[in-house]
Amino acid sequence: MALISCTECGKKISEKAVSCPNCGAPMSGNSSVSLNPQSHTNVTRTGAKWEGIGFVLIVVGIIMAMASQFGIGCLLIAVGFIVFIIGRFK
Ligand SMILES: [Zn+2]
Repeated sequence: MALISCTECGKKISEKAVSCPNCGAPMSGNSSVSLNPQSHTNVTRTGAKWEGIGFVLIVVGIIMAMASQFGIGCLLIAVGFIVFIIGRFK
């Protein structure tokens, strides 16, 4: 077990000690406790889900419009587009 000098009182204490047993100073120098908050920038936006749903609706609408059900297809494209736009700005 290695000993280090307390930064406050200079007394030899265990390097594994959380704080100095002599003066109570917290030991911060030995192991830089980097919390490392893995920047959650790209994690599941709620809007991304709606974008996906809107995109699927548009694709299904286009397919239906081409498969002789033009009215329903156009309706699906319109609804899908609205959902997609909502998802964009969510
Ligand atoms: Zn100390």
